[in-house]
Amino acid sequence: MIDPVSTRTAGKSVCHVCGRSFPAPRLRPWISVRPGVSELIAATAPGWGEGKQICQPDLARFRRDYVERLLADERGELADLDRQVIASLEAGEPVSRNPENEAEDTYTFGERLADGVAEFGGSWTFILSFLAVLIFWMLLNVLFLGARPFDPYPFILLNLVLSSLAALQAPVIMMSQRRQEKKDRLRAENDYRVNLKSELEIRQLHEKIDHQLAQQWEKLVELQQIQIELLEENADGRR
Ligand SMILES: [Zn+2]
Repeated sequence: MIDPVSTRTAGKSVCHVCGRSFPAPRLRPWISVRPGVSELIAATAPGWGEGKQICQPDLARFRRDYVERLLADERGELADLDRQVIASLEAGEPVSRNPENEAEDTYTFGERLADGVAEFGGSWTFILSFLAVLIFWMLLNVLFLGARPFDPYPFILLNLVLSSLAALQAPVIMMSQRRQEKKDRLRAENDYRVNLKSELEIRQLHEKIDHQLAQQWEKLVELQQIQIELLEENADGRR
């Protein structure tokens, strides 16, 4: 593997990077250098490859550069994520809308009136005041107008008024119910939109987190391997 003529002279070998000769134990062969670090060395010192050796100070320098680059990459990735989130926030307007406001704009006067009448017709105010009118009508005709009531017992005219009122009230209530159904439908559509967007966002988050975990795990393993190499070298140096 090691070329005996060019790199080995009298028990000493030459460092490929700085060109100085070192005793063999202070040199590391190409094969034992991590691929990532090797790429860095090859970029600085062309020709770095099989059979070449590097001195320990140079290797330590390249290794430090490599780790710095790894960490810088990681910071860059976080910045990328931030940018993606900001971009998606800028592009994606909030999908939720208030169906009450949306429907309110398209109401005609008749529809508004129907809503108002239906609301009043279904209140205790209406029941009590209507009861008061009925009692007043009956008392007026029986007790106060005496011999010439405009609607004598059994109150035929009152009967007609009540029938007319009931006949009118039914369609008004139906109109109001249609309004309510339309509002409910808008609300359901809005809920669906919001749910769909949430689901998509959550799925995207899952993918982002999975991606992050995989990336960070790889880098952590690599950093740890470099640390182990350094520790082993220290241990070798002490022996
Ligand atoms: Zn060197």
